[in-house]
Amino acid sequence: MMERVRRLWLRLCGRRPVLTGECLRCGQCCRGIHLKLDARWLRSEADFQRALAKYPRYRIFEITGRDARGLLRFSCTRLSESGLCTDYENRPSVCRNYPSPAMFCAGARLIEGCGFRLKASRDFERLLGREMRRRARGKGPVVEEREEARRR
Ligand code: SF4
Ligand code: SF4
Repeated sequence: MMERVRRLWLRLCGRRPVLTGECLRCGQCCRGIHLKLDARWLRSEADFQRALAKYPRYRIFEITGRDARGLLRFSCTRLSESGLCTDYENRPSVCRNYPSPAMFCAGARLIEGCGFRLKASRDFERLLGREMRRRARGKGPVVEEREEARRR
């Protein structure tokens, strides 16, 4: 629900989530993992067993506790002591896609100290498309209309 509301808000504001920065290879995100099954966060050992049946590769993760919301927290057995992935070529998609701009819509935050930044930026392509459609309908750019209104 909140995810849809965020998407709608971004759309109406002409913005989109943008990821900047770079990975500092600190390995923090491999120690504080939350997993989903069918769009629902895993909350119990039974949830994890169901996830394993569907995604056997999740065996590399082990439960280390829960967060304040009651979601299971996992750590990865492929993480080296120096914070690097020891099986980088075979890492699962959940690792390949992290961090993703979609996290912004899901309300997730990056781990403190992460080298990436996630923010809502102006979607210039969408704004340009909107402007082109306005012009195609015979209307001038918004700024010109405002100037015209001021002169009246
Ligand atoms: S927390 Fe951020 S900087 Fe650290 S390893 Fe993960 S993606 Fe890279
Ligand atoms: S497979 Fe590699 S990238 Fe993925 S959580 Fe484990 S150590 Fe991190």
